[in-house]
Amino acid sequence: MSNQSIKVEDYYDQATFSRMKAFADTKETPFVVIDTATVDRNYDELTGNFPFANIYYAVKANPAPEILKLLSDKGSSFDIASIYELNKVLNLGVSPERCSYGNTIKKSKDIRYFYDKGVRMFATDSEADLRNIAKAAPGSKIYVRILTEGSYTADWPLSRKFGCQNDMAMDLLILARDLGLNPYGVSFHVGSQQRDIDSWDAAIGKVKVIFERLQEEDGITLKMINLGGGFPANYITKTNDLATYAQEIIRFIQEDFGDDFPEIILEPGRSLISNAGILVSEVVLISRKARTSLHRWIYTDVGKFSGLIETLDESIKYPIYTEKTGELEEVVIAGPTCDSADIMYENYKYGLPLNLAIGDRMYWFSTGAYTTTYSAIEFNGFPPLKDYYV
Ligand SMILES: *Cc1c(COP(=O)(O)O)cnc(C)c1O
Repeated sequence: MSNQSIKVEDYYDQATFSRMKAFADTKETPFVVIDTATVDRNYDELTGNFPFANIYYAVKANPAPEILKLLSDKGSSFDIASIYELNKVLNLGVSPERCSYGNTIKKSKDIRYFYDKGVRMFATDSEADLRNIAKAAPGSKIYVRILTEGSYTADWPLSRKFGCQNDMAMDLLILARDLGLNPYGVSFHVGSQQRDIDSWDAAIGKVKVIFERLQEEDGITLKMINLGGGFPANYITKTNDLATYAQEIIRFIQEDFGDDFPEIILEPGRSLISNAGILVSEVVLISRKARTSLHRWIYTDVGKFSGLIETLDESIKYPIYTEKTGELEEVVIAGPTCDSADIMYENYKYGLPLNLAIGDRMYWFSTGAYTTTYSAIEFNGFPPLKDYYV
């Protein structure tokens, strides 16, 4: 059981928390409040640690205009997965040269849409997709996404579905050249909320093999490595800080590529936004299932279908803070809908104060990313999760 009370100061500085809390006190639950100054600081911290990297923010993490505008003004580029995300970003005045189409699963007509808008950099991991790109986006830069291991150390793995084996990646880059495209680089994603920094070492090692073999055997000089996202947010399970990630990853790059390494792209999502957000919910009901039951069920007005989808398989364990203090008791935490899958934590037992009562607020920390847009539109009639930017 997480029998440790969550302490605010482990997650937010006092001034920021007070500001967010004061705002939250004026609103009806459930909602997410996001402190944009924190995103601003996170971006500076990332570029400070990786001064040579080009940042392509993974728009899916939180596509709010407030976030996109801020990051655009700070010079970020954007990793985009659909024509809808593209429209959002372009409508803010971002130039298409700062956008990449990073989704390996796409319709031909959507590739053409990106191309017509001016996007010239595309990810792929299959021959069919590559041939579509050659037709719909001739001459564009191509990077091939490879499979990586390390899914069991990532809390939200992105393996299997995306990427291809190294041999196929080489075939695709050669085919890209033969189809008149520009074989530009290699990408990977070691899995989101990746706690094992060494998974970048293994992935960069695979990339090095591709760079060398294509150069020696086919005369193709690749120019870019896309290290993906995967940098951690602050949840219950501890992680190293970003500076440690950066030191290690830079060392891996230099070991494999020397000091004169290729262009490096990063695609952060979670690590830029999560700790800027607090999701605020209210306790709807508290019950025991039997007179002698040792734990209570806490039902709250937010759930799997209203933003907390990453609690699937209890993957992401958000720190939950309440203003009540005192003795803790093991609880099961569930959402408000009439679907029995709408249980956030049952196996991993959270400890919440015994005096937590119906009507009390629960503060879900580090919920700025992968919450707002993951909310259903009206399951059981509940409206989508609201989000506010302060
Ligand atoms: C989701 C995604 C990211 C962002 O990953 P985080 O772990 O949130 O940093 C980056 N690149 C691609 C291709 C993605 O799909």
